Amino acid sequence: MRKKIIAGNWKMNMTPSQAVALCAELKDLVKNDDVDVVYCVPAIDIVPVVNALKGTNVKVGAENMYFEEKGAFTGEISAAMLKDAGVEYVIIGHSERRDYFKEDDALLNKKVKKAIEAGLTPILCCGETLEQREMGITMDWIRMQIKSDLAGVAAADVAKLVIAYEPIWAIGTGKTATTAQAEEVCGGIRACIAEIYDQATAEAVRIQYGGSVNAGNAAELFAEKDIDGGLVGGASLKADFGKIVCYNK
Ligand code: PEP
Repeated sequence: MRKKIIAGNWKMNMTPSQAVALCAELKDLVKNDDVDVVYCVPAIDIVPVVNALKGTNVKVGAENMYFEEKGAFTGEISAAMLKDAGVEYVIIGHSERRDYFKEDDALLNKKVKKAIEAGLTPILCCGETLEQREMGITMDWIRMQIKSDLAGVAAADVAKLVIAYEPIWAIGTGKTATTAQAEEVCGGIRACIAEIYDQATAEAVRIQYGGSVNAGNAAELFAEKDIDGGLVGGASLKADFGKIVCYNK
């Protein structure tokens, strides 16, 4: 039985003091032992948020990292730095990074491997554009992303990671994929993992849906057999996130 995992992606929001205030505001609202709860926060918020969340059920994630160990990579943050600061998860390959920062699958594969090596759990994002969906190539595209991003990653490591299916047309647009569309692709990703690895690995890996998840649609989405929780953008910055985390209460 896979434990649900619900992660907030704060994106480029919240100054350090705002971040600490949000942690305090949400503290009692996001208590749900049935679910792993994660806040993926901007790099500068990591240390204050780790401190603010001490003694709570919420874990901290980063929104990005670099694959090199250390050295002359001005402006970048390493997996070891994140780990040492108390980070447990790291989003890799969010569509905004793939698009605005031109991160490709070869780079993301290096990041996934480095995160795992450092003891972080990647939340690996994949998803299609509206054009790709309309062309009927959604699953072909996502299969290609998954195969490239996980090339050379061992089954035992894949079993522990989190994959977030995020249709690009549903991110920040208020347009949610229908529950059937979300389940179809999450199930397709699981089948893809079974094909590349084996059935046990596919049954273990947690697959989130992301794209305009809110307090009104979370329960229906998370009731699907292949949807193991959500990656939540906009709604993670509001009290509504508590309702999403407590979707089963
Ligand atoms: C995201 O940023 O990963 C996301 C899904 O955003 P939103 O929930 O705002 O669509």
